[in-house]
Amino acid sequence: MKRILVTGGAGFVGSHLCERLLNEGNDVICLDNYFTGNKNNVKHLIGNINFELVRHDVTSPYFVEVDQIYNLACPASPIHYQYNPIKTTKTSVMGAINMLGLAKRVKARVLQASTSEVYGNPTIHPQPEEYWGNVNPIGIRSCYDEGKRCAETLFMDYHMQNDVDIKIIRIFNTYGPRMHPNDGRVVSNFIVQALRGEDITIFGDGNQTRSFQYVDDLVEAMIRMMNTGKDFTGPVNVGNPVEFTILELAEKIIKFVGSNSKIIHLPLPQDDPIQRKPDISLAKEKLNGWKPNIQLDEGLEKTINYFKQTLK
Ligand code: NAD
Ligand code: UDP
Repeated sequence: MKRILVTGGAGFVGSHLCERLLNEGNDVICLDNYFTGNKNNVKHLIGNINFELVRHDVTSPYFVEVDQIYNLACPASPIHYQYNPIKTTKTSVMGAINMLGLAKRVKARVLQASTSEVYGNPTIHPQPEEYWGNVNPIGIRSCYDEGKRCAETLFMDYHMQNDVDIKIIRIFNTYGPRMHPNDGRVVSNFIVQALRGEDITIFGDGNQTRSFQYVDDLVEAMIRMMNTGKDFTGPVNVGNPVEFTILELAEKIIKFVGSNSKIIHLPLPQDDPIQRKPDISLAKEKLNGWKPNIQLDEGLEKTINYFKQTLK
């Protein structure tokens, strides 16, 4: 049994990770300030003797004896991370410093949930880990993109300077049950709109692309990455490389829901990446043959069923 701290554990990805770690017999501390996450996401875990829920903000130091830390605390959807951009940067940067300081002190291994946003609006396609990215440092997405880039820098520097045992994964668009219905990300937005019979809001012409990963595939990769040998720090891309246009996604969701919703077009937000697709060769090699197992149609069915239950 390992003692594991999950920051951002009451969020969408964090709640699935906590559940899986508990099922594997670990002792899990879920730390969250409930900015975008909530207790409902983990209410089924409360009462498990090996589960603790802590209200705390990662911008302040936190001390606990643990073996592993998964650092997920950070709002992930554009509307939420742009709500208070200064706080978003603080969460990424000070959160990283505090979790790295803790890892150094208690000799824990620490994994950073980084993002494909470190590649910005990429000029190389698909994106391999060696690509340095094309990021606007002063735009509306910068608080998130640059905060996550700085966190990666801190992780590598704590590793090189202080020998902290680190792991970095770059997560590409992930979806699934427990996304917040008002989260603003495209999969949850379109499903909620389709179920409510509202207009499906495509930003721009809908020809921009994303590659969508189901949450269970991500959690599997996170746990495999955490348990790789000490010499492999990453960064490693984790995502599903099958690419869709946003228009294709909208059409699929309308069909699967059986909705009468109409597609409307709204202005494309500033710095919205035109294309995104991970090169996952490194993940396949280093994570024991890991690959995504749940393709979009199957994952959308599961997610639509979840929203059908919760929106009742
Ligand atoms: P989410 O918003 O559902 O979860 C983030 C969690 O962090 C929430 O529970 C929130 O309350 C908590 N949090 C935010 N600021 C905090 C703070 N200062 N102190 C403590 N807790 C705080 O988003 P998610 O999709 O579950 O993302 C989890 C992590 O994965 C994030 O770090 C995100 O950047 C990263 N990521 C996610 C995706 C994706 O597509 N889901 C893609 C790339 C990276
Ligand atoms: N998007 C959209 N309609 C929405 C929400 C998002 O067309 O209601 C688009 C958005 O402009 C982007 C893509 O879908 O091109 C993915 O957006 P999301 O916020 O989910 O993730 P990110 O842009 O961070 O990859």
